Amino acid sequence: MKLTAVSGTRASEICRLRLVLHGAVQGVGFRPFVYRLATEMGLAGTVLNSSAGLVIEVEGTAEQLERFQARVEAERPPASVILAREASWLPPKGYADFRILASDESAEKTAAVLPDLATCPECLAELLDPANRRYLYPFTNCTRCGPRYTIILDIPYDRPRTTMRDFVLCEDCRREYTDPADRRFHAQPNACPRCGPRLSAPLAEAVRELAAGRIVALKGIGGFQLLVDARNEEAVQRLRQRKRREEKPFALMMPSLEVVRQYCHVSEAEAALLSSPAAPIVLLRPNGRPGIAPSVARSSPYLGVMLPYSPLHHLLMREFPHPIVATSGNLSDEPIAIDNDEALERLRGVADFFLMHNRPIARPCDDSVARVVRGRPSLVRRARGYAPLPVRLDRDLPPVLAVGGHLKNTVAIALGRQVILSQHVGDLDTLEARRAFERAIEDLCRLYRFRPQLVACDMHPDYASTQWAWRSGLPVIAVQHHQAHAVACAAENEVREPYLGVAWDGTGYGLDGTIWGGEFFLAERGRLERIAHLRPFRLPGGEVAIREGWRVAASLRFETFGREAVPEPALRRMLEAGVNSPWSTSVGRLFDAVAAMAGVARENRFEGQAAMMLERAIGGLTSEETYPLPGGDWRPLIEAVARDLERGEPAACIAVRFHNALANWIVEVAGQAGVRDVCLSGGVFQNGYLVERTAALLEGRGFRVWTHQRVPPNDGGIALGQAVLAAERS
Ligand code: ZN
Ligand code: ZN
Ligand code: FE
Repeated sequence: MKLTAVSGTRASEICRLRLVLHGAVQGVGFRPFVYRLATEMGLAGTVLNSSAGLVIEVEGTAEQLERFQARVEAERPPASVILAREASWLPPKGYADFRILASDESAEKTAAVLPDLATCPECLAELLDPANRRYLYPFTNCTRCGPRYTIILDIPYDRPRTTMRDFVLCEDCRREYTDPADRRFHAQPNACPRCGPRLSAPLAEAVRELAAGRIVALKGIGGFQLLVDARNEEAVQRLRQRKRREEKPFALMMPSLEVVRQYCHVSEAEAALLSSPAAPIVLLRPNGRPGIAPSVARSSPYLGVMLPYSPLHHLLMREFPHPIVATSGNLSDEPIAIDNDEALERLRGVADFFLMHNRPIARPCDDSVARVVRGRPSLVRRARGYAPLPVRLDRDLPPVLAVGGHLKNTVAIALGRQVILSQHVGDLDTLEARRAFERAIEDLCRLYRFRPQLVACDMHPDYASTQWAWRSGLPVIAVQHHQAHAVACAAENEVREPYLGVAWDGTGYGLDGTIWGGEFFLAERGRLERIAHLRPFRLPGGEVAIREGWRVAASLRFETFGREAVPEPALRRMLEAGVNSPWSTSVGRLFDAVAAMAGVARENRFEGQAAMMLERAIGGLTSEETYPLPGGDWRPLIEAVARDLERGEPAACIAVRFHNALANWIVEVAGQAGVRDVCLSGGVFQNGYLVERTAALLEGRGFRVWTHQRVPPNDGGIALGQAVLAAERS
């Protein structure tokens, strides 16, 4: 797709890069180094030491800033160690020069807890060195890598307050731990074969099981994973049956970047993301070469792939150097299992073999999911490797606890200008999940000594999170779902009013009690005015229609062509009488309807499936052709789709015209809104084609487009928007 190239206006535009670095970056000459580098490169900005990390801001063209970022990593002071870093691309502030700011002591103890980091090159070398005392030891780590967030029980971070507290350091390990010159000085999870955690069974047995097509439950960093040979279709299908996960794509782990390249297109940015210390699952485009079992990801245009990130994974992939499915150890959408006994119980019917160990996991942390959007990383699921790094805002918030949505739940706490977003909790449909949700809240409050004065939640009365908020006994501010989406995007990008917030998703409770999901908000003078939305349609059957997109298609045909267009008598009566057929403006449901009409997907077996399949249907097709969608009225669009179907147009053409129509509508509304900044948020914007297309069109017309970077565009990001809006309204 050509649209991924940075467009002309964007390349010359001045932007602001914020780099937040965590680790040994204070008292090692880092600030003078940054000052010299920025000055040498002619970049204006600031550098600030804060208890939430070293915060660097520089302004320049995207190209200059990318070079700056690379040089910071490459030329940093030798005594410094960067453990975790996150970058944000923000609107410029207009810095005139470069300054070292006085230390910011106001920020609270947000730096105390760092994320889990993938095995570093030194540890990996030791792991594979037969002469090293840690040869093949699967719990090797040092101060620069290894578990952190998943072993910490309390602050300050010190061995007795981690899940390593019951392992007594041997003499050799103690020497390393107490020697300031050693790479393992104060490495809290430091361990060796003599004194550290052990596996429950020989690794070779797990390898044998995998090779035989059996399912292995492996205790990883943030919970159990279910592994199976990804080349073995029959084995992958068995995992689907047992896990009761019919069609939702599985993530893969591959032994090396070279192997990933055998199956997927991998850009430079994607390679960097895969190999970063956070080591997330990265959504990549498959290159069509055979080898991966079709059942791994039938619906998606992408394959989710990660590299080995713990010594245990490295050792396993060394013995079994093939792609494996590595999916969360749970049933369907339940939370990930973390305790040995719990896993043995819950995964009994799923796994053939358990490879466990005796290092306890303090809290669940799933694998994160990221992708490259418009050339830069964007998180789809924020968990291992990222949580609990704070999201820094441009303003202070009061102590708000935001409890998020219902699906893909995360919760957030506001500590001054830092917002800590919890790791992905998951869908709150099961009792297990609701317990995990409550634990996530207690956990954040305890770790950060946080006492909420206010709870922010969704307006949906049936969300488990909303109900928790109202039971909490604290003052509650309910925030409209799509406003939370839009504000989350604006807040993380530090976009100031006025701006246009585009919030598109599958479902959210609207201010008028109907189901929203195709909304435009003009943010101005502290207000969010809904200036446009999709023409409302009925969802015949309510909840059922959310699953069965063909019903929505019938509803749209009913409105467009009249009652004769709906042959099913029961459905027709339902639409005529308007019984059990709530109104909706959801773009997600429009995707479902068009996917059903085009014969791409009749229903959703998991959230967003039909939309994913419609994006996949585009394949490599490029086209400027579009459907009419004047002012969000889908009737002319449905007429055009019906005509194309009669003419026997292939699904790819229908899919691309539909996506283009949506992008054009955004451009139309942006033109009417009379603002320069446009924020795109909501689950619909996980659609790579739609985001790239919309951004390119808008930027070509001089708009600045903001998409999510560190916070998911889906409901995993709304806790941030809730916190910000509740703070404004409190
Ligand atoms: Zn290491
Ligand atoms: Zn030891
Ligand atoms: Fe949503």
